Amino acid sequence: MIKLPENFQTYAEARKAGFLRMKEIKDNGGRIVGIFCSFVPQELLMAAGAAAAPLCAFSDEPIPAAEAHLPRNLCPLIKASYGFALTDTCPYFYFSDFIVGETTCDGKRKMFELMNEIKETYVMQLPHSKSEAALQLWKEEIIRLKEKLEDFYGITITEEQIKEAIRIKNQERNAMLGFLELGKLNPAPLSGYELGTRLDGLGFNFDMEERCRIIEERTKEVYEDWKKNYQGKETNRPRILITGCPNSGVRDKIIKAVEEMGADVVAFDCCNGTREKVELVDENMPVYDALAKKYININCSVMSPNKSRMNYIEEMMEEYQIDGVIEIILQACHTYNIESHYVKQTVVKKGKAYLMIETDYSQADKGQISTRLEAFLETIEK
Ligand code: SF4
Ligand code: SF4
Repeated sequence: MIKLPENFQTYAEARKAGFLRMKEIKDNGGRIVGIFCSFVPQELLMAAGAAAAPLCAFSDEPIPAAEAHLPRNLCPLIKASYGFALTDTCPYFYFSDFIVGETTCDGKRKMFELMNEIKETYVMQLPHSKSEAALQLWKEEIIRLKEKLEDFYGITITEEQIKEAIRIKNQERNAMLGFLELGKLNPAPLSGYELGTRLDGLGFNFDMEERCRIIEERTKEVYEDWKKNYQGKETNRPRILITGCPNSGVRDKIIKAVEEMGADVVAFDCCNGTREKVELVDENMPVYDALAKKYININCSVMSPNKSRMNYIEEMMEEYQIDGVIEIILQACHTYNIESHYVKQTVVKKGKAYLMIETDYSQADKGQISTRLEAFLETIEK
């Protein structure tokens, strides 16, 4: 695994460092809205002067408490997120003025009803297709969220403010994408562990300009190091694409593990990867149409059909020169699990290796996963 830089912050450290920033925002009378999903248009929160607190949870600690109310056979991300709220142990949840949920998968949708009893949880009705009718509905939902923010804070959000937020958020997307696209370099210039951890960690920095500066500096530094030390060198390390459910809660036992075994994770088709960043919001369209179009195009498996995800995986396999794909399915995530049929077909059709791992946030299957990863790497000939 490629060495981590000295000042590297783990996900837990970055999350902890964000607590203080969050408290500072609150102490200064600032606004904070908790969110769970890439489908929530952050531009509207920004236009309302609110910071978006990422609430998806990646720890198994609060899961036993959550299981008192939720079924055990449920996605660990949903259980952990609810568990933090229930036990009042997540400062991001605590400081949020209200929560914006969305009707993505059934588990999250129903969990939000319970969460609403702990703190106001406003739910956006996300259609599950990309048809013209769905786009219209989604545009109306986006306008409804703007009205909710106006009502909640007693403010007026102008189109000019939304335009400005779109511009800033697009800049941030480009900066993050530039960092993730370092993975296209061959040999790999940095570890996939760092790629994912840094992006997740930056979600806890609410200053967009600083976020961009930090990631652009790191991108430049990595690229220069690559030119000096790696460019033109041969490597026999297989290049891996990670796809599927959000992977932050299983990063150590899958991504770190496979890199320690001699592979390079270079690409991420997931919500903490390029999935939400490849399409910008069109700055020349009317704002609500532009937001609706951008966000409905996110290739999450809750969309049916979701052929564009397969096309995107194919493109990524070419662009990142992928040798094998590992699909991560969180336990009981039916949409990604069923869709893995098509992902496997897409990967195998291109003559590449495919491995699906269904797991949760516990360490119980760590040994078994390691054995499967080792066997998987042996099937990839370089
Ligand atoms: S995987 Fe789908 S439901 Fe989960 S955060 Fe991403 S877009 Fe939202
Ligand atoms: S990983 Fe799957 S089940 Fe879990 S919240 Fe996301 S879409 Fe829902």
